[in-house]
Amino acid sequence: MGKLDGRVVIVTGAARGQGEQEARLFAAEGARVVVADVLDDRGEALAKEIGARYVHLDVGREDDWQAAVTVTKDAYGHVDGLVNNAGILRFNSLLDTPLDEFMRVVQVNQVGCFLGIRAVAREMADGGTIVNTASYTGLTGMAAVGAYAATKHAVLGLTRVAALELAGRGIRVNAVCPGAIDTAMSNPARLDPDADPGETARGLDRLYRKLVPLGRVGQPEEVARLALFLTSEDSSYITGQPFVIDGGWLAGVSVI
Ligand code: NAD
Repeated sequence: MGKLDGRVVIVTGAARGQGEQEARLFAAEGARVVVADVLDDRGEALAKEIGARYVHLDVGREDDWQAAVTVTKDAYGHVDGLVNNAGILRFNSLLDTPLDEFMRVVQVNQVGCFLGIRAVAREMADGGTIVNTASYTGLTGMAAVGAYAATKHAVLGLTRVAALELAGRGIRVNAVCPGAIDTAMSNPARLDPDADPGETARGLDRLYRKLVPLGRVGQPEEVARLALFLTSEDSSYITGQPFVIDGGWLAGVSVI
């Protein structure tokens, strides 16, 4: 018996990275998964492989959310879970960030999370779950990612308010706060067909060995297992909380 048998879960940004691993794990645990992304070819191929549905969804677009919820309900009759995973990162100092770049990050990471909560929770069966993807930069500052960090702080605010407002229907809302995870976002070489993924992962490990107490970068499968916990009944008494998954990075500074 799977941990998500009979549940219908939409995962955004599921064509690759953490969202892909979440979709794979949820399907393996018995969920009927809706893979949602803007990368149609990858998303469709993944959905076919794991027996899921694919829907084109730009999370920053209200009309796309309406269509995604309609497709989900037409296909499966109900929706019980949402993983707001889609996100983008831009590196820039605050003083050099053009307004349109700042607004694009807000539109995807923050507005996308709000639109997802609103569109899906309106249609969700009582007792549903929402997992929002924040970041360790939702809990602390990090130079050169000001727009991104601001939106991830906002995702935690949305998580807490949604948890309060939806608790009466038994809908639980939590957030994952990953540290450095080996995906295309933190490791763009993963998108280079000529790069050796093992070598680029080892490069990331070298970079993070000194910063992260556990001495390595995290893997998207590890975040997927946390998202599964928060989507399943294993977390039945937990709502409104951020869950840091960062190899100990935020625990403090180690001087030994
Ligand atoms: P990734 O870049 O591999 O995956 C992001 C996915 O989101 C892609 O499939 C992309 O197509 C999709 N996406 C981007 N814009 C979209 C939009 N407008 N609508 C729908 N889908 C869209 O990166 P990842 O590491 O898998 O990122 C997943 C989440 O984890 C993001 O929210 C990211 O901010 C967060 N995060 C990542 C790290 C890390 O180190 N990788 C750390 C902390 C938090």
